[in-house]
Amino acid sequence: MDQLSPMLRLPEQPKTFGFFVDGQWRQGSDHFERVSPGHGVPVSRTSRCTVEDLNAAVAAARAAFENGSWSDLSGAERAGVLLRVAEILKRRRDEVAYWETLENGKPISQALGEIDHCIACFETAAGAARALHGDSFNNLGKNLFGMVLREPIGVVGLITPWNFPFLILCERVPFILASGCTLVVKPSEVTSVTTLLLAEILVEAGLPRGVYNVVTGSGRTIGQAITEHPDIDMVSFTGSTAVGRACVHAAADSNFKKLGLELGGKNPIIVFADADLEAAADAAAFGISFNTGQCCVSSSRLIVEAKVAQQFEELLASKMKKIVVGDPLDPATQVGAITTEAQNRTILDYIEKGKSAGARVLVGGSKMEHDGGQYIQPTLFTGVRRDMEIATDEIFGPVLSSFSFETVDEAVQLANDTVYGLAASLWTSDVSKALSVTRRVRAGRFWVNTIMAGGPEMPLGGFKQSGWGREAGIYGVEEYTQIKSVHVDIGKRQPWIV
Ligand code: NAP
Repeated sequence: MDQLSPMLRLPEQPKTFGFFVDGQWRQGSDHFERVSPGHGVPVSRTSRCTVEDLNAAVAAARAAFENGSWSDLSGAERAGVLLRVAEILKRRRDEVAYWETLENGKPISQALGEIDHCIACFETAAGAARALHGDSFNNLGKNLFGMVLREPIGVVGLITPWNFPFLILCERVPFILASGCTLVVKPSEVTSVTTLLLAEILVEAGLPRGVYNVVTGSGRTIGQAITEHPDIDMVSFTGSTAVGRACVHAAADSNFKKLGLELGGKNPIIVFADADLEAAADAAAFGISFNTGQCCVSSSRLIVEAKVAQQFEELLASKMKKIVVGDPLDPATQVGAITTEAQNRTILDYIEKGKSAGARVLVGGSKMEHDGGQYIQPTLFTGVRRDMEIATDEIFGPVLSSFSFETVDEAVQLANDTVYGLAASLWTSDVSKALSVTRRVRAGRFWVNTIMAGGPEMPLGGFKQSGWGREAGIYGVEEYTQIKSVHVDIGKRQPWIV
């Protein structure tokens, strides 16, 4: 933090950034100005790229893929570049965290922790680049030998959201690079800076030109054009289920590109009466408040055993009252600002809908005035019915709805009562119950007696309408490869024509 402390103030004027194509920085003719959501002050200006800019980026990524400057390197050579990125990121950690906080509104202490995770992603992907391998079949008979090759899929379009701009980027880019693919990235227009900073870091680490390209601009223009582009082989999209569905249509209507989709969630935290209730309440408070609940894996449905429900809700409410909400640049802040005005309105609307549908606010339930920014108190609703919108919809804010259950079957049924299946957390001291419920709840990420724990070795992704495919770890690298089956006749051919 020592290096960071002089930086913990707002820029005097917004800084202008170019976009990055074929190893060159370019400037757009039109710009988007980003206002810090925590302070209401302009902090950055990024290019509003055109579809022609995107086409140039795709052409550069295609040329880099075809010339083999990256895809023909050995795993060890790719790993070398990825490890250098990790080292440079360690040096530029404070600066990247600072921009993440300015544009997103997340607390600086959290942003610093996220950069550490990003460094670990590059280190893990370096190992995965060396470990990636195919398979062989020695059981096809005396004369036939089979090999299964994994080849990079080609040019990847990467579309990322505003809630974890750098973390989500780094849970994908190193693994995509480890596979040998090249990329065109489109960050959310409101949080583009750290994706651009990564371009500088990759250049310094020795990534060949054209392998990583960044085109900034809105989702409706650049994002949509990526999903429709006939020369992009795969799109990795992270964002809302509605836009994910549009990606599926665009892929079908263009070149049937492969899709990786990480979408929404309405994630349960299930608390049994035999759990360590203090620890579970702390985890529930964290699970809904972390990143102001603008987190695809936020635990937004509390499912608690009836005999301890009231006691648990009171304990949780007392903890939620103590959460430090405020200036994202203050190192003591635990919960920062809501990232966009639109999201701020959406969350406040849901809070009103919950109240008017008859649910009761135990803590929070309103916006907070602070420093010209947009802030919402972490909120706990009790008396929530399963048909209320706060029970079914992904709010993407610090709003937790509480339900109670009598039996294990009922807990499982409530947990699965959603179109989503991204994550779940479960609290009990009974290991058999923990494992049996884990097997019955349909979610891609599960935490038992913990929450939001993990490392880049573990795959990320969802069941049901939470998405397709997995990111990170060796599974994440494999997603960006395609499989070729090779059959080699090692004997004398049996003639067909006699
Ligand atoms: P979003 O509106 O779907 O936007 C996500 C990204 O897609 C942004 O870069 C956006 O660009 C772009 N985009 C918008 N319209 C597009 C279109 N028609 N075609 C292609 N790209 C388009 O979602 P968001 O508001 O940023 O993020 C909130 C949602 O993301 C939540 O539902 C949340 O659950 C989900 N999310 C999921 C995960 C996960 O890992 N599963 C992680 C984070 C967020 P612009 O912003 O520039 O318009």
